[in-house]
Amino acid sequence: MTKEFIVFSEKPGLRAELIANALQLATSEQALVAAAVIGDQSAIEQAFAQGAQKVYSLGEQADGQLLDDYVPTLITFLKEKQPALMLIGATRQGKAIAGRLGAALGISVITDAKEFNQHDQALEITHLIFGGGAVRVEKANTATTILTQGASVVEAVPEKSGASGEIEKVSFVEPNRKATLVERKAKPPASVNLSVAKSVVCAGRGIGKKEDLEMVFELASLLNGEVAATRPLTEGLDWLPRERYIGVSGATVKPDLYLSLGVSGQAQHTVGITESRVIVAIDKDKDAPIIPQSDYFIIGDLYEVVPALIAALQARK
Ligand SMILES: Cc1cc2nc3c(=O)[nH]c(=O)nc-3n(C[C@H](O)[C@H](O)[C@H](O)COP(=O)(O)OP(=O)(O)OC[C@H]3O[C@@H](n4cnc5c(N)ncnc54)[C@H](O)[C@@H]3O)c2cc1C
Repeated sequence: MTKEFIVFSEKPGLRAELIANALQLATSEQALVAAAVIGDQSAIEQAFAQGAQKVYSLGEQADGQLLDDYVPTLITFLKEKQPALMLIGATRQGKAIAGRLGAALGISVITDAKEFNQHDQALEITHLIFGGGAVRVEKANTATTILTQGASVVEAVPEKSGASGEIEKVSFVEPNRKATLVERKAKPPASVNLSVAKSVVCAGRGIGKKEDLEMVFELASLLNGEVAATRPLTEGLDWLPRERYIGVSGATVKPDLYLSLGVSGQAQHTVGITESRVIVAIDKDKDAPIIPQSDYFIIGDLYEVVPALIAALQARK
């Protein structure tokens, strides 16, 4: 029987990247890369154009139907097909689905895969842990392995329009308990995109009061940069919108300059700043974890250092 690698994502762009990754391994393993697709004929055609060699059509998603409703269908489908690999897009919904499939079927689920290779008859997977702060290499020990993979891990191959292949229909299995969609609300447009900022001035809990953020904004403006924060300032104190916090559960930045003001440098925060070109920390504690992680630091009270920096930058204008 031909070995199958099946990819699944509700995001067509991410599905293209999963297909590209699966195709790389499939060549040496003589496996077939199939896509499980929810959508109409054009979605199926797109999966073929993205490189899928076969499509399992799960039908069209009805208005108000949640992706979650497809879990019983996917469980039945995986039991029947037993693919060597099920590669799922690591979106919020994709990760939840992967976990539910793994639990229902007793299958290994390995999250945030970066690379996978066949090694000694087993699939060896390099994946990110601690929110991307480290990598771990693991071997799957079940006949089918479920992997989740995020965006931008591999490049999608250019789409080949007109590509086609076998389409197999998968019957929908009605879930026993259905969640009901009550309302959809548009997210307010983001006011900042930290991921493209060239300078980032990051406020931490060393900032004592909300009004003091004024000097942080002034410093950021003199540096032509954006203001960011640690999570407590956004989720606990609500001083700034959530889109401004950096870290494992927030944004990842890669500026030329990341300047922290009263940020201790816990791993949950610093995983989001590792690609900064220069890290500068201002903290009154010489033992704060941010200090050894920075290129330059000033040990001192930010309430003295920041006004002095602002004055110096203004004097240069
Ligand atoms: C599951 C989980 C996920 C998390 N995700 C994130 C995340 O994505 N992003 C994130 O940021 N955090 C996250 N956190 C929280 C994280 O663990 C830290 O608690 C948080 O980053 C600390 O914020 P901070 O550095 O501002 O505050 P603190 O750790 O309290 O540090 C304050 C710093 O300010 C210094 N300071 C105080 N006063 C002054 C002064 N006057 N002048 C100079 N320095 C001064 C202190 O010496 C200290 O170093 C997460 C936590 C958990 C459990």
